[in-house]
Amino acid sequence: MPELYEGINCRCRSNGLTLAVELARRHILARIIDKRDSSSTLSRALGITSRSLELLSPLGVSRQLIEEGIAIQEARIYQGTRLVMRMPLHSCSSYFPTILGLPKDRIEMVPSATLSAMGVQVEYQLELLQFNKEGNQVVAELSNGENETFDYIVGAGGIHSAVRECANIAYPGFDLKEKWSIADVENWPYSKTFTLTQMKPGLVAVSVPIRENRFRFVSSCENALEAFPLPLKIHKVRSEGVFKVSVRQAESYSKGRIHLVGDAAHCCIPVGGRGMNLGIADAVELAKRMAGNPLDGYSEFRQREDKKVIAITERGRKIVTAKTLVARMEFNTVLVAAKYSPFVKRRLSRFVVEC
Ligand SMILES: Cc1cc2nc3c(=O)[nH]c(=O)nc-3n(C[C@H](O)[C@H](O)[C@H](O)COP(=O)(O)OP(=O)(O)OC[C@H]3O[C@@H](n4cnc5c(N)ncnc54)[C@H](O)[C@@H]3O)c2cc1C
Repeated sequence: MPELYEGINCRCRSNGLTLAVELARRHILARIIDKRDSSSTLSRALGITSRSLELLSPLGVSRQLIEEGIAIQEARIYQGTRLVMRMPLHSCSSYFPTILGLPKDRIEMVPSATLSAMGVQVEYQLELLQFNKEGNQVVAELSNGENETFDYIVGAGGIHSAVRECANIAYPGFDLKEKWSIADVENWPYSKTFTLTQMKPGLVAVSVPIRENRFRFVSSCENALEAFPLPLKIHKVRSEGVFKVSVRQAESYSKGRIHLVGDAAHCCIPVGGRGMNLGIADAVELAKRMAGNPLDGYSEFRQREDKKVIAITERGRKIVTAKTLVARMEFNTVLVAAKYSPFVKRRLSRFVVEC
């Protein structure tokens, strides 16, 4: 049983959980609260990159994720119903050769079980209301009336993080005007394949396998399934919904004894499948620093890394969703370059698999 160090609090789900397991592995037991009723059965993120698996490997959770997930072998790009490119998803240099499809609720269950085995439980139905600095510590006000003193507070509360707001850290960026949609379905023909289709100028939809016979559709319009141009053989729609997309990054990930990880620190479009993966990298880096390395450079380092990836996903979004002739030409140029240049294809594939 690891020694208990009082006073490190983090809020979770996936990114907070990663941080908590990383800390527990280093004998620092965090208090973890979540205002939800219980662990989520809903799932947003689904693609876990090779880099994340590598980072999670010392925590002892990667093997189980690999056993449960679907190793996605190929990307197919369509324009309307015309297949314009097939790209093997493969990296020779990474921990795991491809990206893994697995719903986020399952991704969370594995570290959650590991954490429980280390003696830490997530406290559900408990909300952080606000906090105040007191000397070298922070006093948190919780929804059950407790006022508890901590050495650090980590905000892993997602886009609307109360920690970020209470610390007065700006979250500049923008919200896309249009609503996007998501649907989880059972069965459609192309297993182990990531499919991206540009339905018409400005509209994009993707499908990703997340379990045996289960697929996730995400689209930049309000009805992902209706708008998908390829023939679908769907046995069951398990869930559907619409959501808004924001592209933002906190002006700093740290302020005194307050630190941010995951969506509390940044958010980007879901089609690139990067949000949760960047959050995992934030959490692992922060844990490493909290356990003895200087915390000072955490914000600058992770901000810089996340910014690069967000910029690439934004560039991709603009190319595939823009309606202008110039953007369409740019999309076609990328496709032709990837089709005929093994170098470009390899780079694209490595970005999807590794980042
Ligand atoms: C449709 C869709 C598809 C996506 N697909 C992918 C993908 O394939 N790959 C990928 O990497 N990313 C993807 N993303 C992004 C990914 O889902 C997010 O980046 C990730 O879920 C962020 O995790 P988080 O733990 O930081 O925040 P969240 O998952 O938002 O969790 C925040 C938690 O904090 C709790 N909380 C909030 N405020 C408080 C408070 N005051 N007190 C206590 N608890 C609080 C909440 O209850 C919640 O449980 C997708 C996003 C969407 C919308």
